[in-house]
Amino acid sequence: MIEHTNACINGVWVAASSGATFAVENPATGQTIAQVADLSATDALSAVDAAYTAQSGWAKRTAKERAAVLRRWHQLILSEQEALAQLITLEMGKPLAESRGEVNYGASFVEWFAEEAKRIYGQTIAAHQPTQRLLVTKQPVGVVVAITPWNFPLAMITRKVSPALAAGCSVVIKPSEETPLTALKLAHLAIEAGFPAGVLNVVTGLDAPAIGEALIADSRVRKVTFTGSTAVGKRLYAQSAATVKKLSLELGGNAPFIVMDDADIDAAVEGAMLCKFRNAGQTCVCANRIFVQAGIYADFVSRFSARVAALQVGDGAHAGVEIGPLINRDGLAKVEAHLADAVAQGARVEVGGTRHSAGALFFTPTVVSGVTPQMRMAQEETFGPVAPIYCFNTESEVLALANATPYGLAAYCYTRNLGRAFRMYEGLEYGIVGMNTGIISTEVAPFGGVKESGLGREGGPHGIDEFLEVKYGCFDLGLDPEECR
Ligand code: NAP
Repeated sequence: MIEHTNACINGVWVAASSGATFAVENPATGQTIAQVADLSATDALSAVDAAYTAQSGWAKRTAKERAAVLRRWHQLILSEQEALAQLITLEMGKPLAESRGEVNYGASFVEWFAEEAKRIYGQTIAAHQPTQRLLVTKQPVGVVVAITPWNFPLAMITRKVSPALAAGCSVVIKPSEETPLTALKLAHLAIEAGFPAGVLNVVTGLDAPAIGEALIADSRVRKVTFTGSTAVGKRLYAQSAATVKKLSLELGGNAPFIVMDDADIDAAVEGAMLCKFRNAGQTCVCANRIFVQAGIYADFVSRFSARVAALQVGDGAHAGVEIGPLINRDGLAKVEAHLADAVAQGARVEVGGTRHSAGALFFTPTVVSGVTPQMRMAQEETFGPVAPIYCFNTESEVLALANATPYGLAAYCYTRNLGRAFRMYEGLEYGIVGMNTGIISTEVAPFGGVKESGLGREGGPHGIDEFLEVKYGCFDLGLDPEECR
């Protein structure tokens, strides 16, 4: 299953110049599954050399030719769905069924942007002078650096890289040190699909700050696209200022999940289960604060708790498992700290609340009621299988609570009142709103946040614009203005 453990630069598999490697562990078992090339910052810069050299030739191909290579990549990813899914589960722990879903979801961006490659349109503008003609075209930004997280090791790459490649950019991918193997397999399939050497590169390494800084300091890199924590995103934003790079930032969230007393409670419970517990709660759009209106609060807590208590915890590679491990010790420590803080301030554990016997990084799916905005879990992403429930009384109260955060990625609301649905949709200060649904991700719609959740959009008709520059041409016809009248 593991074919490559070296970085992919200029179409060649390369070891670190020092020969150093780092261990990748299966979080479900703690076992080392591979030793991967630990590149230095200087090693990583050779990927920029390759990407810079390859970019202009790639951009000169017709959109139809670029689309054909993307389509082949899409087909190859789907034909390797099972192997990719097993690799995702092996290196980051999510249940195999979710990993299969991630492969489909990730592949859908490749297909979508293969189609969008052919739909990059310009404009002519009615000129302000009779002797001139005005043209607007779009050109690829150039070399793109994509820095990606571990929680969706495949989809967070394809969501960035497919529009960049469709637009005619070349890319240097820096995957998380937790999940480099999926990235390397994607690169293998990209080579097979026919991307020219240097168009898609993957650099692996433990020293993400040094590698990131070197890549961003290079003036040949014209765009940085990052998915990860808000803290790191802010650093990259500051580093990009020195060379005024274009930036897309998909950062952390603190999603409110609001259930009004007129909601279909069964649908809301189902939506909350999907939204909260996918990937063991390690998604940026997962419900981080569940607000339930007073009239249905007790009913919701009891129905939801019963469902959570029945979740199957274990190694994601085993059939029937619904909740895998947390990614690492830091992730587990954060979950425990949030829970301890909430309980100390008066929250009540309805189900769960302890580590799980399945292994060192497992936590029992948990519901906590009586949570208040002062608690840590109200202010920060817990990023684990803990569902905190708050009680509210009025629509205006919950809207204020939902918006009282520096984050603004995804929000959810359940109501059967149409006017209330529109009021909430318009009032929620979020880039994405799920109304009567807990699942919002699709390649056909723009994904992204406001406030400190980020900049730019991925997917949908907007996604490719992030990798294009608008160029305006003013053409003088060389005529006497009088002749034009
Ligand atoms: P992270 O610690 O910010 O890491 C993300 C990526 O940045 C990894 O490749 C990491 O490498 C790298 N990195 C870390 N420090 C760096 C630095 N100083 N300079 C350059 N690169 C650096 O985030 P994470 O823990 O992997 O992911 C979880 C976070 O991602 C959560 O906050 C989640 O909400 C967010 N997320 C957001 C979205 C979205 O679309 N908005 C989607 C998914 C996840 P190493 O792993 O090798 O350190």
